[in-house]
Amino acid sequence: MPRTHRTIPDMIVDIHTHIFPPRLIAQRSRLAVADAAFDEMYASAKATMATADDLLASMERAGVDVSIACGFWWRDPALAAEHAAYLVEAARASGGRILPFVPTREPVEGASGIGEVRECAPEDVPASHLPVLVHSSEEAGHLYPGKVGGLTPGALGQLLDARPEARLIAAHWGGGFPFATLIPEVRRSIERRVLFDSAASSYLYVPEVFRRVIDMAGLDSVAWGSDFPLRAQEVDRAYVEAALPEEAERAAVLGGNAARFLGLGPE
Ligand SMILES: [Zn+2]
Repeated sequence: MPRTHRTIPDMIVDIHTHIFPPRLIAQRSRLAVADAAFDEMYASAKATMATADDLLASMERAGVDVSIACGFWWRDPALAAEHAAYLVEAARASGGRILPFVPTREPVEGASGIGEVRECAPEDVPASHLPVLVHSSEEAGHLYPGKVGGLTPGALGQLLDARPEARLIAAHWGGGFPFATLIPEVRRSIERRVLFDSAASSYLYVPEVFRRVIDMAGLDSVAWGSDFPLRAQEVDRAYVEAALPEEAERAAVLGGNAARFLGLGPE
């Protein structure tokens, strides 16, 4: 059975990955000089950068049907536009297996969303009819490249209040925002428009975080994200499966919730 025709419950969706055009990968050191946030995250040759082909090969290995591929939130609009064009073309060539979330303030033709948004205040997050993936950061715990520059839970709350129409993927468990959903009006404000992704969870939290967030914010608000290539998809998928032994929860987190949120699968 061709992968993209699976029914929603057993569709496997990775809601958070990163790919770069080969030209920008080759220019890594020059770009590190030009962009401070890029320097912090990718100056080191140890920081893996992947292309669309690398992602598709990884999806084969990990049994992933669809991946959201994000761009880098460049300061330079020309780099952002170049990255967006690459993402849209890679998505087209992938037959819908890659969904492009572009790093531009305005959505471009062919984009499925905007992201990964970082380094901006809530009021500066692009307003769009498309979903926006925002880099969120917890306010406690160890420092690491890219922690500073994420939306904190407070900033996320402001964004949700200021933009009742916005649809958000709050990366990295929303930096802890799920606790705030124990406030009834906050819980109501996230329904059907916010997903918390689990990207880089194993570097920050114990595996019980899956259970805790499901219990606080509800099963339908949690979606698997690997942050590939920071984490190998097959390794991170196995980590989620180990954290969620119950079949229905596993299916929802590994793809059902993302597919519903993104409008994937048969009508
Ligand atoms: Zn990311």
